Amino acid sequence: MSSAPTARPVRGTHDLFGEELRRHRHVAETGRAICERWGYQEIATPIFEHTEVFARSLGDVSDIVTKEMYTFTDRGGESITLRPENTAGVCRAVITLGLYQQLPVKLFYFGPMFRYERPQKGRLRQFHQIGIECIGAPEPLADAEVIAAGAHVLEALGVLEATTLELNSLGDLESRARYRDALVRYLEGHRARLSPESRLRLERNPLRILDSKDEADRAIVAEAPSLLDYLNAESRDFYERVKEALARLDVRWVENPRLVRGLDYYTHTAFEFTTTRLGAQGAVLAGGRYDGLVKTLGGPDVPGVGWAAGVERLALLLAAAPPAPRPLAIVPIGERAEAEAWTLARDLRREGHAVELAFEGKPSKRLKRADRLGARVALFLGEDELARGTVKLRDLDRGTEEEVARAALANRLSRLAGEERA
Ligand code: ATP
Ligand code: MG
Repeated sequence: MSSAPTARPVRGTHDLFGEELRRHRHVAETGRAICERWGYQEIATPIFEHTEVFARSLGDVSDIVTKEMYTFTDRGGESITLRPENTAGVCRAVITLGLYQQLPVKLFYFGPMFRYERPQKGRLRQFHQIGIECIGAPEPLADAEVIAAGAHVLEALGVLEATTLELNSLGDLESRARYRDALVRYLEGHRARLSPESRLRLERNPLRILDSKDEADRAIVAEAPSLLDYLNAESRDFYERVKEALARLDVRWVENPRLVRGLDYYTHTAFEFTTTRLGAQGAVLAGGRYDGLVKTLGGPDVPGVGWAAGVERLALLLAAAPPAPRPLAIVPIGERAEAEAWTLARDLRREGHAVELAFEGKPSKRLKRADRLGARVALFLGEDELARGTVKLRDLDRGTEEEVARAALANRLSRLAGEERA
């Protein structure tokens, strides 16, 4: 095969097909079903927004804004950005649609996100997230609810046991500012040994140094002051109430006082469900509270809390791919049967069956194709069967054959489907 640019996908993008797509869909559909059970409504916002929406909400110095956004000027001269995440877009939509008039509003989304990153296993430039946002609920119960809903999604996917919930509190703005000062004072003492990147962060976004992946940084960070020692009384109380509610909901966590989220808009609760099974791409579902965000985007001052989960990473964690649907195949024999096969296929499809019927070819060739597609049953339609108003049903797993009256076919097929489920 030639590798002409037109036959190659863009680096960090990926075609989903077959088993991989079934895993992906299973994650999305399970996530969707569980979010709905928790009373969240789906929202689908555009995949691009005015660049301002992200620049303002994520903060000028966040990694996403400084390094990862796909930003371009469109033909009308406007600066547009492919969404790197969807919390900002959902908050923008809450303002646009006036959804803040009936709070709290509980929303979830699913769709592709875009970040210019170094591609690796579980790290793509176009990837998918499913996420929830609970907007307009200031109480710690909301934090516990969104975390518990996330745990439920992981449980329904059979991957909860493969993850650890890490929990922290950044406190309110006052606590966070006090901590920031203490952290900068500490890190200044180690400036020379910090990575060049973290030395930059020291001026602009010191909290980010806490989740640096650089070895030397990590050693310094291990001795850094703990966020939890800087929470004021209110923030401490808030955090305690989140933990009490989680305990009541049987959600288990480990405290990680170094856990910070990459974005500027977080306050109070920060959390991540992480796994050791995906190398450096450990976070599968992550989020926190973002009380200032809606206001930053020009809306009313309403609080919010939510998370986003990486669909590709969850798909990699699934123990097994859901099985492919198995069609039934119709194999006509003879010219009259050819025509008849098409009405039979239509009728069976109307009854809810997935039917494979090749356009042409000898019966043996059609049967081979049916096999390749994983058909469970082949229905042979020849002159004799036509005359008798029957079909010959071959069970392709067992190799058995029987003649079934057309009128009895629906019944016979649903009995077969029942056996398969059992
Ligand atoms: P990481 O530390 O791995 O870069 P992040 O903090 O940038 O993650 P978030 O912005 O919190 O990630 O996004 C939520 C989830 O989306 C992550 O936990 C992860 O599962 C997934 N995710 C983020 N970036 C990517 C990517 N480039 N490719 C695939 N999945 C991703
Ligand atoms: Mg990232």
